[in-house]
Amino acid sequence: MSHWINASLATLHDALRSGEITSSRLVQEHFEQTDRVESDVQGYLTQTRESALETAEKVDDDLKAGRPLPYLAGIPIALKDNLCVKDGRTTCGSQFLKDFISPYTATSVQRIIEERMPIMGKTNLDEFSMGSSTENSSFHTSSNPWDLSRVPGGSSGGSAAVVASYQAPVSLGSDTGGSIRQPAAFCGITGLKPTYGRVSRYGLIAFASSLDQVGPFGRSVEDVAQLLSVISGHDPSDSTSSLEPVPDFVSQLDQPISGLKIGVPASLLSEIVAPDIRNTVLSALKVLEGLGATWETIDFGLFDHAVSTYYILAPAEASANLARFDGVRFTSRDMSAQNLRDMYFNSRGEGFGPEVKQRIILGTYVLSSGYYDAYYKKAQLVRSKIKAGFSKFFERFDVMITPTTPTAAFKKGDYAHSPLEMYLADIATIPANMAGLPGLSIPAGFSEGLPVGLQILGKAFDESTIMRVGHQFQKATEHHKAKPPIKGGLVT
Ligand code: GLN
Repeated sequence: MSHWINASLATLHDALRSGEITSSRLVQEHFEQTDRVESDVQGYLTQTRESALETAEKVDDDLKAGRPLPYLAGIPIALKDNLCVKDGRTTCGSQFLKDFISPYTATSVQRIIEERMPIMGKTNLDEFSMGSSTENSSFHTSSNPWDLSRVPGGSSGGSAAVVASYQAPVSLGSDTGGSIRQPAAFCGITGLKPTYGRVSRYGLIAFASSLDQVGPFGRSVEDVAQLLSVISGHDPSDSTSSLEPVPDFVSQLDQPISGLKIGVPASLLSEIVAPDIRNTVLSALKVLEGLGATWETIDFGLFDHAVSTYYILAPAEASANLARFDGVRFTSRDMSAQNLRDMYFNSRGEGFGPEVKQRIILGTYVLSSGYYDAYYKKAQLVRSKIKAGFSKFFERFDVMITPTTPTAAFKKGDYAHSPLEMYLADIATIPANMAGLPGLSIPAGFSEGLPVGLQILGKAFDESTIMRVGHQFQKATEHHKAKPPIKGGLVT
């Protein structure tokens, strides 16, 4: 097996420039890996082999002719299937959109296209990004490359699984309450949720607009930083995208972290977290201490309120966002209905899966008059308290560290009868979305052979610091280099 599917983006950049490999060959080798492992992993919903090769061939022509190219040109990428690509199928994991061909391209994807990266395909997700396992996808459940009987996490489970199984070096996902960080943790890779506003949401099919962010997956912080540089920056098509300048993320990675102050919420080192996970976090903190950082535990009680607040606000926003799927526009329509009302009812009834329906009902309920003040308004107040709590925290500390998840990847079906328990597992990831802050998850060790993620949260628009901490950690440890024992084997 080729060692190129194992290489970092910087190595691939150099190899493409020196002519050691062509982009077409690189794309081909990733397809060969897909042929070996995808029947087990099932990370993709759609593969776009032809157009990926076409992009690659054009890059090869330009390389041969010595024409200037962007840094990541010719390097393959996979996209979560809630990102629109013009004239391509975008399903959002839903039967409702199973035949939806997007009339336009998401800005983040447009930047990938301008970077000339071959797009390998669209990856599996929980329907409308609602879930933590891809089990809510209305097509199929993806598998965790580390143990095929387990979930890869969600909702961006497919994007994490294809990177963890070496079908693509990097991918894009989206994170509303943890959907990049949690699958990154479960699959043993690196994932970053940028600050709200850092990356355009234009063309990302909305789940909860005040929380959603597009972000990168990769096998190292360095790769994630490269990709973040490509997708970041203001977009006039998204009024919530920020004008904040985009720093050179990559060049800042090598600055030391001595003197850095880390705060750790005590509740996330308590018994709500599995013992192996707690020990992994403590060992990681030791490594960071060895690099000159200091840490202390703090009481950050507001963390405990984030999940309940999220499960009011996110469904409320979802119920409004998903109202557009009415059977008149988009794809799923009951053609036999005799009147408009039945057409709406039946189209939505058939098009949406149970989790989506549950959230629409919940969202409509908390927004309805009489309940609005009691639930929605109160949740907004709690949200502003959480934000204020973080501001105070960051007056004292540079970063916050927590486990990304309270357990390692769970078995498929484990939460089939208790979605509420699955919701509670988002305890560490949701607060960052509530406050719009950036969060990184990096592999930090193992629990019974399954990867454990370490979460690093930072100040708004300070992705540089959290990535620097992650990068220094990866320079000092080998956890991110471990390979899942999937069929076909992987080169070391
Ligand atoms: N697991 C969370 C949920 O089900 C987060 C999903 C996400 O970030 N898209 O809502």
